[in-house]
Amino acid sequence: MISGWTRFLPRKNKKDVDRSIRYIVSHAYKNVPFYRRTFDKSGVNPVDIRKAEELTHLPIIKRLDMMVAGPAEYLSCDVSPEELVIRHTTGTTGTPVTVYKNRLEEAFRKITIIDAYKRNTSLTCPMTLVNVGPERKDGSTKIVQKIGPITIIKLFRDIPMEKKISILMSIKPTIMGGRPSAYWNLANALREKKIIPHSPRLITGGAEILFPHVRKLLENVFRCRVADYYNSEEGGNLAWGCPANPELMHPNTATVWIEAVDQQGMPVPPGSEGHLIITNLYNYSMPFIRYETGDRGILLETGKCQCGFNGPVMRLTEGRNENFIVLPDGREISPRIMYNVVNSVLPHDKKDWSMIEAIRVFQIIQESNDLIEIKVVPGPAYSNSLWRAVEENLKILHPAMRLKVSIVDDLQPEPGKKFHQVLGKLSSRWKCERDNRENK
Ligand SMILES: [Zn+2]
Repeated sequence: MISGWTRFLPRKNKKDVDRSIRYIVSHAYKNVPFYRRTFDKSGVNPVDIRKAEELTHLPIIKRLDMMVAGPAEYLSCDVSPEELVIRHTTGTTGTPVTVYKNRLEEAFRKITIIDAYKRNTSLTCPMTLVNVGPERKDGSTKIVQKIGPITIIKLFRDIPMEKKISILMSIKPTIMGGRPSAYWNLANALREKKIIPHSPRLITGGAEILFPHVRKLLENVFRCRVADYYNSEEGGNLAWGCPANPELMHPNTATVWIEAVDQQGMPVPPGSEGHLIITNLYNYSMPFIRYETGDRGILLETGKCQCGFNGPVMRLTEGRNENFIVLPDGREISPRIMYNVVNSVLPHDKKDWSMIEAIRVFQIIQESNDLIEIKVVPGPAYSNSLWRAVEENLKILHPAMRLKVSIVDDLQPEPGKKFHQVLGKLSSRWKCERDNRENK
């Protein structure tokens, strides 16, 4: 299907998007049992989906339904799983997700992330990308990685701060990427030690809210532009921070079509907050069509922006202060890092291990200063022994931390509420600072 290559255009206009939507919907119906079944059940003929706006006729896909169906159902029947790149999401919405891509799709995902950086700065090769605070997972353990003219440096979370700083000072980063909470620690350590780091062209934040006080600290310490990015394993770059207005983001129409819907799955009008639903335009190996991200946001009127971009505009809302865990020494652990404390020691590399078969859903709750409770809805292959490594990992965070595991039948959020993968019950500094600002 020659025309199917539209999906790999690194910048797509609305016509390209509509064409990509038609291809992915028809491909999924023909080749992916999960979608054939789901579309048939909904009574919609995929041929009737001609453009992005008509996606609303299709049902919303929940990650749990997709994962429970299994790879034989959700992968395209013309791919062999052993030839695909596999990633486990570190998402904050309950169900763990395994994402499969072929090498071309994985390469395109990376290209779109670099292209999204170009929206905020000019880039030339060779370049050095520094990732601040990632986890060692899915076979990614090397600090230095070279892909052609691009060098990637990973300052893993478990590297001691002194070492992180010495690595950072030995290179000239072009772009730095990472979570705000990881930057916060790094920038504060640099400031305390009165070390002046090289100034990258751009600092990109993601995965957590980029609070103004964090942005300001980074601008001061690194003396460069700081932009928010919305990336996911399922889609790659979903949106980039607008260079003219840091509060706004531009959805990346090269990778996904984003919708905002209400609790019933009905589209909300522009300017209203909704649950963000994505349709991936390039992953044919494992299509994501009207897939719930678990994130919330506001889509605004499409138009010509001050930054020069002519296209969709959005605002990401992440009510996640309550999701921070506070350790007995006052350090705060973001929900994503906390999720990784659990996820990174599960036996993903073991043959025959299937996360969804072992664990349907789990939730991490801070019960008190030194006690973490994990509530788990077990799958058929569940074993209590899984938690030993998790408890050890928790003690690396802080030796006083204890783990309690409770088996539950279900983990439904309260009606109208978002599921919190990680729920901190202690008041958090982030929250205090935000409340103080709002009260001013
Ligand atoms: Zn803009």
